[in-house]
Amino acid sequence: MSPRKLIATARALRELGFDEVYITKDTTEEKREGSLREEKEDKAELLRKLYKQMEEERKCILYEGASGYVFGEGDPNSPVVFIGEAPGEEEDKLKRPFVGRAGQYLNIKLEQVGLKREKVYITNVVKSRPPGNRTPTREEMMTCLSYLRKEIEIIKPKLLVCLGSTAMKGILGKEYPITKYRGQTFPYPYNPSIKVFLTYHPAYVLRNPSADKEFTEDLKKVVQLISQA
Ligand code: URA
Repeated sequence: MSPRKLIATARALRELGFDEVYITKDTTEEKREGSLREEKEDKAELLRKLYKQMEEERKCILYEGASGYVFGEGDPNSPVVFIGEAPGEEEDKLKRPFVGRAGQYLNIKLEQVGLKREKVYITNVVKSRPPGNRTPTREEMMTCLSYLRKEIEIIKPKLLVCLGSTAMKGILGKEYPITKYRGQTFPYPYNPSIKVFLTYHPAYVLRNPSADKEFTEDLKKVVQLISQA
């Protein structure tokens, strides 16, 4: 109970004729807060363990050619996970997802719809940079997918946002161009209580500025979807 509420309650009791009130500590709220804090710490810890496991196993076949893995980052308690294709040059250098041109553009767009980058979780299907930033092959994607699924299992978001065709292919197994499916929602095959929303990759929007309007609409829909119960 807040101090102000406590004082108001004490006054009301005095007016009713109580001189002394014995207060027993209500630990329910403390316990709830404690378990929420533990769950938050747990998710961060579980992700750290997963990334350590990835480093040890080195199963993603692009690892050798790149300068290592670029893991997901952001709030592990976010209701939404944004999924890109693979790290580019800048991401490979800084070991952080979406920090190059496409990432900076994504940050601006997130802010436009009232989302803060540090409050969402951002990751990629493929965790190492493909040579020359080419599209990852099916085999390269397959060797990394189990880690992405594990990330999702730990975070348990309400919504997965696939940024572009590679993310859609990885998450839904659909091989169609994203232009055909953008703006649509599907159940996540590995946990149908999680929704999958499809939109453009920010790099595509940078190359095709006329897609910006639809991209903005899609991000507004993302905000709506995560604010629904
Ligand atoms: N493009 C992606 O798909 N992911 C990144 O992290 C950066 C650019």
